[in-house]
Amino acid sequence: MDYQAVLEDIYTQVIATKDKGTPASYIPELAHIDVNNFGLYLQKNTGEVYGVGQYQTKFSIQSISKVLALALASSMEDNAILERVDVEPSGHPFNQLALIEVENGIPRNPFINSGAIVIADILVSRLQNPKADFLNYVREITGDTTIDYDLKVAASEKATGHRNFAAAYLLKSFGNLKNNVDVVLDFYFHQCALHMSCEQISRAFHLFANRGICKNSVLRLTERKVKRINAIMLTCGFYDEAGEFAFEVGLPGKSGVGGGIVALKPNDFVISVWSPGLNKRGNSKLGMFALEQFTTKTQLSIF
Ligand code: GLN
Repeated sequence: MDYQAVLEDIYTQVIATKDKGTPASYIPELAHIDVNNFGLYLQKNTGEVYGVGQYQTKFSIQSISKVLALALASSMEDNAILERVDVEPSGHPFNQLALIEVENGIPRNPFINSGAIVIADILVSRLQNPKADFLNYVREITGDTTIDYDLKVAASEKATGHRNFAAAYLLKSFGNLKNNVDVVLDFYFHQCALHMSCEQISRAFHLFANRGICKNSVLRLTERKVKRINAIMLTCGFYDEAGEFAFEVGLPGKSGVGGGIVALKPNDFVISVWSPGLNKRGNSKLGMFALEQFTTKTQLSIF
């Protein structure tokens, strides 16, 4: 299979598409990103890599970071997490508040904002220097010390993240947030503001395609936990579009409002895409298209 030719063919189609979606505007710092950016990067477990477009340009990974936060929390705790966050698809937008109230402060899953805020709370409790330690974890699993937070994006979200403050206070009222709301959200906004390229994201996610073993050959997560996190990506990685992503693409994955999507096939590959224009559900419009084309052309889905 000529993977480079497959990626180039997808790139040609994407460039020719007029409606490229709309960047997220509720985080002001993300609103002005050019929707013409596009990067696509395939990393096979065997070591071959293929890329087109701006696959080395860094962007705000946003909710993609929720998988890395869950991986780190899972490596330190196991069943205790499941007492505080469920593993069911929510069928609602990522920032929905009503379910927190109806379900007594237990978020549906760790990839909607309320669930990710509980995971952030666990990391704040567990880590000595949460922001620095989390960044080091991401650098270690990627093998890349140049990865950093985009502090402007973190500050921009902090200034306008009213729904996340509402979610955190609601969680606190149900006793499902142990630390101070401002401290947890400061960590969460930095986590979401990780600035990484498609190439770096693929390297970071190698452990989920490789039974918990990172690029540097270190085992960071047990096979059982990797299996579970991949299952949550498949069922909850795209909020109220998780069904559509499984239907069209057929891989576990995770999106972010910065326009990135990462998807993987266990024991085979990781693929990352960046196209900042979003669809109505907050997922990258052309990113979804590109991945659908990839699994259709290569027949490399999990199904
Ligand atoms: N930081 C964003 C938020 O909390 C992440 C959302 C996303 O990428 N879907 O709203």
